[in-house]
Amino acid sequence: MAYRIHASDRTAFKRCRRQWDLSSRNRQNLEPIAGFGPIDLAQAVRDALAVYYFPGMWEWDRSIVAPLVHQALERSVRTQAKAVGGDQADDQSVQETLDRGRALLDAYAAWAPTVDHFTPIRVDTDFEAEIPDPATPGANLVTPTGEEIRYCDRVDMLAIDSDDAYWVVQHRLVTGEWADHNALQLDERSIAWSWAWPQFYLGMQITGTMYNEIRADAGDGGTNATHPARHQQVHHRRMYARTGTVSGERLHAEGTDGFRRTLVRRGAAELAAAGANLAAEVSAATSTDLEVYPSPEPNVCARCSYRPPCLILNQGDDATAELSKSYRQRPPESVQEGRLGGVTWSMNRGAAPPRWPS
Ligand code: SF4
Repeated sequence: MAYRIHASDRTAFKRCRRQWDLSSRNRQNLEPIAGFGPIDLAQAVRDALAVYYFPGMWEWDRSIVAPLVHQALERSVRTQAKAVGGDQADDQSVQETLDRGRALLDAYAAWAPTVDHFTPIRVDTDFEAEIPDPATPGANLVTPTGEEIRYCDRVDMLAIDSDDAYWVVQHRLVTGEWADHNALQLDERSIAWSWAWPQFYLGMQITGTMYNEIRADAGDGGTNATHPARHQQVHHRRMYARTGTVSGERLHAEGTDGFRRTLVRRGAAELAAAGANLAAEVSAATSTDLEVYPSPEPNVCARCSYRPPCLILNQGDDATAELSKSYRQRPPESVQEGRLGGVTWSMNRGAAPPRWPS
C-alpha cells in the first residue's frame, strides 16, 4: 500500500491544518453533504483546452477541432451542474456559463496560434512520484508505519518545443489583474510538476513552466476570426530522455489584453530545493506527533466548507453531531472511463480521441 499525498492535500496542510484534517483522504476524509459551490468555469475551460491541445488531433484542421472543444466545455459544465444541483445550477446559469465559455474559447483559438511555439505531448495527465529521503541517499520517504509515500497531481499539459525542450503548461482563468511575475516564479504547484515529472518518466527532464493565462471576460466583443486560426507546425527531434536546458532568459511573457503566455525556466538547483521542501512538508504531515490546529485567515475562512464544525471546536465543544449531520465520507476515487489523462489509448499523432461518456 502506498500513502498518497495529492497537491491539494499539500496546499490544505499548509493553509490550515484543521481544514486539512477534516478534508484530506488521508485524515477524516469528510465532504459537505450540501454539495459544492457554483459551476467552475476555470475547470470547464481546462477541460475544453485538453481537447484543443489533444496530441492526436494536433494536426487536424482547427475547424474540425473547434466543435469538439465546445462539446468538451458543455460536457464539463453540465457534469458540474449535475453535481452542484439545486438553485446554484439553474438553466439560466448553465446557459450563461456556456455562452461565456464559448466566446472565450473562440477568442482563444484566434490568438493561441501566435504563441503556440510547441507540440503538445500529453494533456490532463495524472502522475505519482516517489519522494527521495534527504536523510538517506538512495531511499524514498515512508510513513512511520512503513508505507511508501507518493506525491500525486494532474499536469494540465506537457509540450515539447523546437529546441527539443519539455515544458509543463498550466492553464489559468484570470478574473482580476495578471499574476505578478514573482508569483509565477514562486508557483509551488507547477514547480512540483517540473520536479516530479522526471521521477515519473525517468530521464524526461523539464526545462520550465509555461503559464497560459486567459482573462475571464476575453472575447466579450466577439472575435473577427471567421475560422479558428491554424497553428504553427513545430518540428522537434525526439521524444524521450534528454537533459533539460536552462539556457535562455529566465522569464518571457507575451500577450494581449485578454491572454498572456509566460515561460519561466527552472534550473536543477531550483527543482532540487523544491523536492527537499516537499520532503520536509510530507515528513511533517505524516509524523506521529503532529499537532492539528486552526489557522484562521479571513480570505481562506470565507471560502472554507468546514466553518460550522470549526466554530464549534473553537468554543471547546464536541463537533461530532455537526459532522454526522452535515458531512459524509468521500467515496473512493474512481477511475473515470474515457477521461483524457487516463492514457490507456494512443496519444500519438493521428490517434483519434477517446469516446467520452455522454
Ligand atoms: S474556517 Fe478557517 S480556521 Fe476553520 S478550518 Fe476553515 S480555514 Fe481553518
